[in-house]
Amino acid sequence: MLTELHARVKKHLRENDVRYSTGRQKFIAALHAAGGPRSATHLHTSELDDVPLSSLYRTLTVLENVGVLERTHDGDGVAMFELGEWLLGHHHHLICTSCDIVTDIDLGNDLENAVAEISATVAASHGFTMTGHTLDVLGLCEDCG
Ligand SMILES: [Zn+2]
Ligand SMILES: [Zn+2]
Repeated sequence: MLTELHARVKKHLRENDVRYSTGRQKFIAALHAAGGPRSATHLHTSELDDVPLSSLYRTLTVLENVGVLERTHDGDGVAMFELGEWLLGHHHHLICTSCDIVTDIDLGNDLENAVAEISATVAASHGFTMTGHTLDVLGLCEDCG
C-alpha cells in the first residue's frame, strides 16, 4: 500500500514538475502511518520530530498546492492535513475531543449506503443538489475514554 501510494504521488508530482524529494517521501510515509489528518505541530512533535518546522510548512504548502494534501478539521483554528481523497479513497473520521487525534474510518458498504441515503434525503428536502458528504463522529478515543 505504501509503495503504491509513493508511486501515485510521484507520478502526480512529476506531471506537475514537482520533485518527490526524500523529505517529501518521508512526509507522505509519516502521514500515511498516522492513519488520519494531522496538524503540522503534531507531526513536528511526533512522527517527524527531526524535521524543522519551517521545512515542514514548506512541504505542506507544496503538497497542498499540487493537490496531494487536503486541509481539514481546523475547527480550533489549527489546520490539519490529510492525503487527498483521490489517494486515500472515500472515508470518514473519528475525532477525539480530548486529545484531538483524528482517525480515518471506512464504514463498509451497508453503513456507507445508509449515510449516503440519509444525506440525499436531507439534501432533497431542502432543494439542495448534493455533491458529496462527510461524517465526523465526536467522542473519546481508547486512550482518553
Ligand atoms: Zn484521545
Ligand atoms: Zn461516506
